[in-house]
Amino acid sequence: MTKILEKITVLTLLGTSLLLAKPNIVILATGGTIAGSGESATKSAYSAGAVTVDKLLAAVPSINEMATIKGEQVSSIGSQEMSNAVWLKLAKRANTLLSSDDVDGIVVTHGTDTMESTAYFLDLTVKSKKPIVFVGAMRSGTSMSADGPMNLFNAVSVVTNKETAGKGVVVVMNDEIHSAREVTKVNTSSVNAFASPNAGKIGTVYYGAVNYYMQTLRKHTIDSEFDITKIDSLPRVDIVYGHADDTDLFVNAAVKAGAKGIIHSGMGNGNPFPLTMDALAKASKAGVVVARSSRVGSGRTTLHNEVDDEKYGFIATDSLNAQKARILLMLGLTKTQDKKALQDMYFKY
Ligand code: GLU
Repeated sequence: MTKILEKITVLTLLGTSLLLAKPNIVILATGGTIAGSGESATKSAYSAGAVTVDKLLAAVPSINEMATIKGEQVSSIGSQEMSNAVWLKLAKRANTLLSSDDVDGIVVTHGTDTMESTAYFLDLTVKSKKPIVFVGAMRSGTSMSADGPMNLFNAVSVVTNKETAGKGVVVVMNDEIHSAREVTKVNTSSVNAFASPNAGKIGTVYYGAVNYYMQTLRKHTIDSEFDITKIDSLPRVDIVYGHADDTDLFVNAAVKAGAKGIIHSGMGNGNPFPLTMDALAKASKAGVVVARSSRVGSGRTTLHNEVDDEKYGFIATDSLNAQKARILLMLGLTKTQDKKALQDMYFKY
């Protein structure tokens, strides 16, 4: 009888500790305004990335009630300094951490300028169903009404929410949850700086309460074919911005610099100015992959509209903006030069 009671006690204790076990979350800090520090609470000037991850976490102690948190500093930069090298480092680290049974999810703190790009890069290159959440801030920690602490609290709420797993990389800003593929920065200074123009947000997070309404149907994470574990650099892909009275100068410069791909951020449905068009046609003939994208900010860039893509061997980037189209083409070119296969990727990812 005593033995049975002892066993029941042990099992109860085990059950309780399992119930109380908090998820293990790693915060990978890269810099940005969320880690920014300024001289004055009422002036916009500050240095991005000046605050270390430990200080950042100490500013929001309530996140420790939701998870066992560890912080790692991957870089300390304003995200306009983001590079392929940091993307590869971050994606490799995320892959390593998430393959361990000791890690249940990752939050990446990031500057807002290029957050959409880094989030999409990880969406395509991290092989895990576990949650990966990006978060930033528009006001530095020393600013009046700083948005970073609430955004970080919400990000940890999202990463520890069971429904986030399997949704691909998400971005949490200003009480909203966005898919990495769809989200883009739409305002230079407002705290409401992010939107998903083609799809809308996929959920909301209000004082930590998470609600999802939809999710992306495009391939990501474990369904992605891109493997960067053994890759140390990516093929050069340049973006050329189209405009009235445009030139051939920048297309030719990209080709001369050794670009393997060019994303043309065209007018309307991805249209180039005639002189630029001639340079793109020449580049394509010379073996550079030319992908037509749009500078409009929403909608698809469609094949065979005003441009004879078949004749020139161009491909179209579907609804990806130029900065994300560049990422997909860089990764695509690590696998194939075949234009049809590359075109298919724009319809799948
Ligand atoms: N340029 C900085 C960055 O992207 C500031 C933007 C921000 O984080 O809000 O890191």
